Amino acid sequence: MKLTPQTASPSEFIAHKRAERLQQVATDAPSKLNLFKRVYAGTASPRLCVKAFCIECVGYNEAAVRECTAPACPLWNLRPFQKSAGETEGGAA
Ligand code: SF4
Repeated sequence: MKLTPQTASPSEFIAHKRAERLQQVATDAPSKLNLFKRVYAGTASPRLCVKAFCIECVGYNEAAVRECTAPACPLWNLRPFQKSAGETEGGAA
């Protein structure tokens, strides 16, 4: 039987969805697995949670987060991997 919010308890459903996501991260972006484990364990800072969200949003591609073209997103100003002030396309100024 498929686990859904109607067929499982809330905690079972959450655990199931997170296990699925961790499996996906392990396959698609193994270097991010510990980040997601910390987020799910509740030991990650809000900043790291934003990082995980942004990475997931763009298919686990750090450069895509840096170049995110959605300035209306509420997380846009907080997204990780932004160039620091004075840094140019070719590297530091
Ligand atoms: S800032 Fe960009 S990458 Fe981050 S969640 Fe928003 S749209 Fe996605």
